[in-house]
Amino acid sequence: MPQAVFGVTRRQFLRVVGAGAGWLAVRPAFARGVDPHRVALLSDTHIPDTPGTQDHGCSMVERLRTAVKEITGLADKPTAAIFDGDLAWKVGTRLEYATLAKEIEPLVRAGVPLHFGLGNHDTRDAFLAGFQAHAPEMRPVDGKHILIVDTPRADLFILDSLEPSLGAAGKCGKAQTDWLALALDLNEKKPAVLFVHHNPVFAADPKSNGLADTTELWKTIQDRKRVKALVFGHTHTWKVDRKDGIHLINLPAVGYPFKASEVTGWVDAFLGESGMKLAVQAFDRKHPAHGKVTELTWR
Ligand SMILES: [Zn+2]
Repeated sequence: MPQAVFGVTRRQFLRVVGAGAGWLAVRPAFARGVDPHRVALLSDTHIPDTPGTQDHGCSMVERLRTAVKEITGLADKPTAAIFDGDLAWKVGTRLEYATLAKEIEPLVRAGVPLHFGLGNHDTRDAFLAGFQAHAPEMRPVDGKHILIVDTPRADLFILDSLEPSLGAAGKCGKAQTDWLALALDLNEKKPAVLFVHHNPVFAADPKSNGLADTTELWKTIQDRKRVKALVFGHTHTWKVDRKDGIHLINLPAVGYPFKASEVTGWVDAFLGESGMKLAVQAFDRKHPAHGKVTELTWR
């Protein structure tokens, strides 16, 4: 079973991921029909309060429904589904989260544990109010919604780059990077894959709306060799890159693309002993990126 391994007890963990809370369920990772190394990755769902709403000519709810149907239809279910921020369409109202909660119900019924990161279109308090299963005990860093999902081959760190004062840009903040350093050092041998909503920005660019404290985050992770990959969304662009041996995985959007040519969909990820395999499940089956497997090797 995925466990939060830092900052919460097992009992608290069961409460915060919602065992018995109705629609966020926990199931043992080794249950029949579950692949303990498979993780479904979704980003930028942008769920509106009204299901019919469109953006860039796309119905975000229809797209999420497709992804949910595909994931629940898998013979071997993932051990977790991770939503990498921008859950809500615009500003993160309670109604937007209520719509999201309703649309992900089939995943909950299928017993897929769900974990949520936050992006610049989210509101932390409204999210936490709507997703009551994520109780305040979940906060090892004040004002940030973060957790660690423990899978057999890697710890998945879900970080929080939502920083309302920066508009579309984001920031982890010193308290979070300090916590991250501490949490990473607890288990130096186990591979770690980090999730954050905003894209890292390595060259100073005042116009960038990416992760404003990329330099600080990078200082924290670059020499901690257990960090193998950084996964992010925000740009609504599917791209895999590498820096200092750390894989940079930019997830496609579920909700809508900024450019019509960009692939949208979710990513079927498999954690191996020494790497990870990623396969984009595109909504447009004819898109050249659909089904293409990207194999990453750990540094
Ligand atoms: Zn977005």
